[in-house]
Amino acid sequence: METKKKDIRALTKDQLRNFFVEQGDKAFRGNQVYEWLWQKSAHSFDAMTNVSKETRQMLEDHFVINHIRVDQMQRSSDGTIKNAVRLHDGLVVESVLIPTETRTTACVSSQVGCSLDCRFCATARMKRMRNLNADEIYDQVVAIDNESRLYHDRPLSNIVFMGMGEPLMNYNNVLKAIEMITSPEGLGMSPKRITVSTSGVPKMIKKMADEEVKFGLAVSLHSAIDEVRTSIMPFNANFPLKDLREALEYWYSKTKNRITYEYVVWKGINDTQEAVDALVKFCKFAPSKVNLIEYNPIDDGEFQQASDAAVSMYQNTLERNGITVTVRRSRGKDIDAACGQLANKQ
Ligand code: SF4
Repeated sequence: METKKKDIRALTKDQLRNFFVEQGDKAFRGNQVYEWLWQKSAHSFDAMTNVSKETRQMLEDHFVINHIRVDQMQRSSDGTIKNAVRLHDGLVVESVLIPTETRTTACVSSQVGCSLDCRFCATARMKRMRNLNADEIYDQVVAIDNESRLYHDRPLSNIVFMGMGEPLMNYNNVLKAIEMITSPEGLGMSPKRITVSTSGVPKMIKKMADEEVKFGLAVSLHSAIDEVRTSIMPFNANFPLKDLREALEYWYSKTKNRITYEYVVWKGINDTQEAVDALVKFCKFAPSKVNLIEYNPIDDGEFQQASDAAVSMYQNTLERNGITVTVRRSRGKDIDAACGQLANKQ
């Protein structure tokens, strides 16, 4: 019976070094191979040209390199690129490159489907199939960095975990991927250029605070009134705003980092003065920034973008209360790459 070969990138550097020692080779060979796997993103053992043919064969006998493959790349008229990424087991996730004048941002997925059930989100309609491994997250970033250099003449500058899935429900792999993205043995990016966006899992926010992570945190809030939030994000019934707020206070006390809130204003749902007052009350405890995001309807429209007047009301009230606000127009709408639209529509 054929034994299933292990994904070599599931091994830490020390484990790889030990493997070589167990094979009667030198530990430093592990460093060489590790560099090929991460920094040089080798897709095959044969690409490892400073490793002998025998050693490459030995690696082939024991391991596989489960690389992602960009199956389909769509380019929007505004420069946005959406990748349909095929994983080694045939499942597909999506990631997006968003260029602006000053930065190029990768929006990456952390799960196939999503564990949560936000009613306005296309990904929620796919059931959660599995978590992505750290290398599958890392590979999405590498693919987008390459596309950024090729089509926009500059390297990737920022990463947001805002694609498919709830990153804090795949905590260990997301953190491992970030470790490799920021490591000089990986892509060497600054953690300050990375933002993990969560719909708000209080226990995990506290855990991140305890681990003194250096990347930014964004919370998809969308309402600071429990009843409304639960109606659009049903898991809020289990993680009510009181718990979320307490976790964020803890995060701020530990990191002293400004908290970003992602917020869509929908017609008839949260476009009232009462809703914006609740938002101000919720986020005033720490330096905050609210991104008011334009909504992209995913179907015939239970959720509709609120009027410009309602968005201005939010903007004015937040600014009056000393809270930084940005109004984000969506990018890549013509290729379904905008926020909340990622759902493998191919
Ligand atoms: S908005 Fe995010 S957390 Fe909510 S269902 Fe969609 S992918 Fe999951």
